Amino acid sequence: MQALQILNNVFGYNSFRSGQEEIINMLLNKNNILAVMPTGAGKSLCYQIPALIFKRGTIVVSPLVALMDDQILALKEIGVSADRIHSHRGDKLNKETINNFKNGKIKILYLSPENLMSDKTLTELSNIDIDMFAIDEAHCISKWGVSFRPQYEQLSKLSTIYPNAIIAGFTATADKITREDIVKKLNKNDTKIFVQGFDRPNLSLAVEQKDNWKKQILFFLENKSKESGIIYCLSRKQTEDVSIFLNKHNHRSIPYHAGQEGTIRKKNQEIFMNEEGVIIVATIAFGMGIDKANVRFVAHLSLPSSIEAYYQEIGRAGRDGHPADTLLLYGLNDLFQRRRFIESDGENIQHKLRENKRLDSLLAYCETPTCRKKSLLAYFDEKVKECKNCDNCINPPKMLDGTKLAQMVLSAIYRSGQIFGAQHIINILLGNKTEKILQKNHDKVKTFGIGSDYKIDFWQGFIRQLISAGHLIINIKKFGCLQITESGYQILKDKEYFNYKKIETKKSQAPKLKIMKEALNLDANSIEILSSLKQLRLNISKENSIPAFVVFSDSSLVEMATVRPKSLQEMLKINGVGPSKLKKYGPIFLTVINK
Ligand code: ADP
Repeated sequence: MQALQILNNVFGYNSFRSGQEEIINMLLNKNNILAVMPTGAGKSLCYQIPALIFKRGTIVVSPLVALMDDQILALKEIGVSADRIHSHRGDKLNKETINNFKNGKIKILYLSPENLMSDKTLTELSNIDIDMFAIDEAHCISKWGVSFRPQYEQLSKLSTIYPNAIIAGFTATADKITREDIVKKLNKNDTKIFVQGFDRPNLSLAVEQKDNWKKQILFFLENKSKESGIIYCLSRKQTEDVSIFLNKHNHRSIPYHAGQEGTIRKKNQEIFMNEEGVIIVATIAFGMGIDKANVRFVAHLSLPSSIEAYYQEIGRAGRDGHPADTLLLYGLNDLFQRRRFIESDGENIQHKLRENKRLDSLLAYCETPTCRKKSLLAYFDEKVKECKNCDNCINPPKMLDGTKLAQMVLSAIYRSGQIFGAQHIINILLGNKTEKILQKNHDKVKTFGIGSDYKIDFWQGFIRQLISAGHLIINIKKFGCLQITESGYQILKDKEYFNYKKIETKKSQAPKLKIMKEALNLDANSIEILSSLKQLRLNISKENSIPAFVVFSDSSLVEMATVRPKSLQEMLKINGVGPSKLKKYGPIFLTVINK
């Protein structure tokens, strides 16, 4: 009951989302937990509400300064006594904050793992009882996970230093072994693992062969000009190039990558967070801790490192629950590049094996001819019905017998000694008399020119499918040459068939985003009000230097524009309006609504 009251009266939300109440109750009953919930499920509330009920303090471990700052702003905005300690704030402020935590003025203290586990902080905190440690992005503690951070490893000492405190881990991405590893590292044997379904029904999924990314991305962006979105690129330079290209085509966009000067990066992030219709073109450096709920699309211009990474990145779209589109474009070169990354990443063979396996799973997902949602969630051990919303459900791919074509490729590889990359093999198939072909006498092999009925794009896609199906491997140690596997030999010897997905080289097949207006069913009047409310929100956010979503979320504004409250009392019923925000912003928003 108390938890629900806090949800209503402090956070201003009407009801719990799925899983939240259960987790809160587990924590109130002093259980150690590991909660795995999809992005946008509302993990923060799960520890913030118990933290407000507990007598003593709660420490939240969070990896990123920007994330901490946003969370604290949002909490202060609703009158919750929370603060953070980090290096950007200076010793004096940090000291003051820790004193406030010690004497109970602050109930929730946010810290980075390295800061918390430093001797200095541990000594400062040594005399205080702490009720709970909430560990955000808990997968960073596991080497099995996708983004291991050595600083997180130190957290395994917490259970010894604070045997009476609850340890609650939260993550959006952890497969079974990673979950078990996290629990082991957090060293609480009695930890209860809570896994909330991974399904995000509002996300549409699409994967396409990359043949002309410029055309493909422009097609994807049609009807999305007023929406915010993220486009992920592999390199820093690519983010700059893509951003310039999009701006030229009237899509307002800004680049973001770790090589930018700090102030520029911060400014770009702020523009994206606060303004409407901005596309951020970023490397994977962007995202962790991005709290923008109304991201309407995420596109990848190259292959992510794994399904976990992909799921986390697309998960940044549609956190408000409204429809959002995703598109992954990938080509043969991306695949080579990924394998190369893995090969050059240290000496640990087990690690490389694991990363290669992860990449294989992602490829299998990319090439699946069946429902993508099904395939994606199966990876996380979850069964769902067909989504009817992905490219494969909307446009089921045609499967064709490709045994003969596969034999042509395999034979060209075999006859040229299995020491050449895809480009050279395709030149053999097409009958191109390149310098290298002539030099190696490959114009004399039997397969020379045998595939000239098809174009280069076709062969790239076809070879990619052979690799994804495990009939060919890329040997990175031998400069990325293609080699035939056991199953590949079976096809070559005519003992196995090979079916392939028809290769479309036409324009994009990606499903189109239902325009928000239609999805929300707003009438013209409501749209006008909504636009004024968004402008008001932007003004307030600029005046007070706070992110727009900290003032009100999009969902709250949409509700205001449709319900059109007439009094403060009616305003309080809007989801996301609690007493604190009502007092601060209620009157001015009411004026705009009823103008
Ligand atoms: P996560 O950390 O799981 O990705 P957040 O905690 O950032 O998600 O929550 C996502 C958004 O959902 C936030 O804007 C949050 O305020 C909102 N939210 C959380 N719980 C509820 C709820 N019960 N009702 C309405 N909105 C909620």
